[in-house]
Amino acid sequence: MASIVLFGPPGAGKGTQAVAIMRKTGLPQVSTGDMLRAALAAGSALGLEAKSYMEAGALVPDSVIIGLIDERMQQEDAKNGVLFDGFPRTIAQAEALENIEEIKVVVSIEVPDERIVERICGRYSCSDCGAVYHEKFNPTSVPDVCDSCAGRQMNRRADDNEDTVRSRLQAYHNQTAPLAEWYSNKGILLRVNGDQQIEDVASEIISGIGG
Ligand SMILES: [Zn+2]
Repeated sequence: MASIVLFGPPGAGKGTQAVAIMRKTGLPQVSTGDMLRAALAAGSALGLEAKSYMEAGALVPDSVIIGLIDERMQQEDAKNGVLFDGFPRTIAQAEALENIEEIKVVVSIEVPDERIVERICGRYSCSDCGAVYHEKFNPTSVPDVCDSCAGRQMNRRADDNEDTVRSRLQAYHNQTAPLAEWYSNKGILLRVNGDQQIEDVASEIISGIGG
């Protein structure tokens, strides 16, 4: 068994699919954010080094991140591989990763930008009970009155507006496109249609990664 890398734009349901992959393969999920938090909590040498960068408001350099991943891969639950989420972000990181761990498949969840914009924009929630609605797909029965609690205070997040979503998508594509090509050249990129029902995306991934 070897590790899996998961890519997906914001709003593509990557978190849900990560859970499906973990259930199917038994691999633990490794995200750099969680790993950094764990290293800081454990107070390891690398953790402290990472902390010094973060406190200075600087990016944690690749050498530290790679060191942390190397440490993480030594742990018992990682012996059959892991599911990398949010890593690698650059070709330099991918090359470094190659020296630590064999990557079996890189799953790229692909959804047209227009569909992501449609999904994310138009979301709103009830300030009282947290019920989530969508202007187009799941509106309240009475405009701006919560179906669950009859609350009248609807919350629309400022970062869910179209310009913000489009610039996040652009940043994602700029970052991911070279990596996708790099992994594609290695013959291990699995492009999955993310523009379908959640269960169908999951089965496409599961059959693609070979169980
Ligand atoms: Zn409510």
